[in-house]
Amino acid sequence: MGKITGFMEYERLEEPHEPAEARKKHYREFYLRLDDPSAGVQGARCMDCGIPFCMQGCPVNNIIPDFNDLVYRQDWKAAIDTLHSTNNFPEFTGRVCPAPCEEACVLRINEDPVGIKSIEHAIVDKAWEEGWVRAQAAALKTGKSVAVVGSGPAGLACAQQLARVGHEVTVFEKSDRVGGLLRYGIPDFKLEKGVIDRRLEQMRAEGVRFRTGVFVGVSAPGRGVGSDAKSSISPDELQAKFDAVVLAAGSEQPRDLPIPGRELAGVHFAMEFLPLQNKRVAGDQEVKDLWATDKHVVIIGGGDTGSDCVGTSNRHGARSVTQFELLPMPPDVERNPVWPYWPTRLRTSSSHEEGVNRDWSIATKEFTGDNGALKALKTVRLEWKDGKPSEVPGSETVIPAELVLLAMGFVSPLQSMLDEFGVQKDARGNASATTDGEDAYATSAAKVFAAGDVRRGQSLVVWAIREGRQCARAVDEFLMGFSELPR
Ligand SMILES: Cc1cc2nc3c(=O)[nH]c(=O)nc-3n(C[C@H](O)[C@H](O)[C@H](O)COP(=O)(O)OP(=O)(O)OC[C@H]3O[C@@H](n4cnc5c(N)ncnc54)[C@H](O)[C@@H]3O)c2cc1C
Ligand code: SF4
Repeated sequence: MGKITGFMEYERLEEPHEPAEARKKHYREFYLRLDDPSAGVQGARCMDCGIPFCMQGCPVNNIIPDFNDLVYRQDWKAAIDTLHSTNNFPEFTGRVCPAPCEEACVLRINEDPVGIKSIEHAIVDKAWEEGWVRAQAAALKTGKSVAVVGSGPAGLACAQQLARVGHEVTVFEKSDRVGGLLRYGIPDFKLEKGVIDRRLEQMRAEGVRFRTGVFVGVSAPGRGVGSDAKSSISPDELQAKFDAVVLAAGSEQPRDLPIPGRELAGVHFAMEFLPLQNKRVAGDQEVKDLWATDKHVVIIGGGDTGSDCVGTSNRHGARSVTQFELLPMPPDVERNPVWPYWPTRLRTSSSHEEGVNRDWSIATKEFTGDNGALKALKTVRLEWKDGKPSEVPGSETVIPAELVLLAMGFVSPLQSMLDEFGVQKDARGNASATTDGEDAYATSAAKVFAAGDVRRGQSLVVWAIREGRQCARAVDEFLMGFSELPR
């Protein structure tokens, strides 16, 4: 259990990182993993409290007390085996997970929680350095084939699990590179893309095939949904060629703000802006000319996507960066008032620390411009009562802006694709499928399954990994009549 008195002796440690002014000058990751002794000290703080609320809080149910103890004892090899037994890609979650496990840590009741995410990060990065992460190719092939649509964390986790039990897996991806939002949503300064590439190499060695630049569907994706596709394949063809199909296509349709001036040049969806920078970092030469440099930038939407726009705009050298949120400012509480659950609290990301004017309870009424180009926003202050907003009279303001990034979330997956597969949808337009019972992850269409954001709506990398893993087991059972894959 770590060290019996560790939680009384040691403080929570931050991962070493570059100061804001220095890291704003580049796009590389700036958080380093804890060194081995520091990670050991962090592991020593785990109380092994009997009921591991942290494991419950972690969507993939990582066996946290065990790997905390193993790291305390410096048994890194056993630690990575433990971590990999529940999580295919700890190097992604160890970097970008918001760590609901730490909100559920028992130490969190009256102390800083164990730095679980930093321990996960340390274990997996050390494992890669030591050469312990190797391909686990299946000993026997089943002769069954599975098509996975989408190469985000859900598709990748599902594909890896299925390949490891001997199925022939092909992943179809409309972007030019594999990775979904890991590749083209999350900026390099949070997740360098070499981290994805080395995992893909492992998956290729395990037999997974990737077909990029291929759109699955008949109707092309609509406004706000990116695609690099050079060819397409119809849902009918996919269903005919493969023994099972897994939809892991994410939830990409962005929420729009249809107010006067929306058509002005300079108003963009966040996902028209962020992927361009990831492509530039990857060395692509012919990338659309959309920059925040020397502009007053306003980001509408207060979540992860908005925060990534803040970090990217600052790196471009924006003149000013402002982020609006419709909702009131959440409380800045030190302890978790709803432990062990995920609390609503003010969250300050590393991108926020780099410089931004954040404003809450504010609505945008109109975009105004000159000769078709955006120049300003008209806003109004909101007052919230009983969960409902009303405009504060006389609070109208005009704010200069040459670039507005809409980061107000995503409404649904591509509806046309789901319709073409004949998949029933829930009230929010997601692929309808349960996660339990005999029909887990099965959609209404024959041999078509769904996992990740396409099923649950825009969520988190760790939830996508969980669903991809669980869906793989459901598909394996469907194909073979039984499965030894973990649930
Ligand atoms: C900007 C941004 C930042 C984020 N930051 C974080 C973070 O820090 N931490 C975190 O936990 N979560 C974060 N998220 C959320 C997280 O990235 C997603 O919840 C997660 O990636 C969902 O995984 P997925 O596999 O279900 O779908 P996705 O990652 O969306 O992948 C779906 C893939 O399917 C492909 N596809 C879709 N339709 C088709 C088709 N018809 N044919 C072929 N291919 C298709 C898409 O091109 C895409 O590559 C962020 C999201 C965004 C937008
Ligand atoms: S995946 Fe996320 S919730 Fe689970 S242990 Fe890692 S940081 Fe915590």
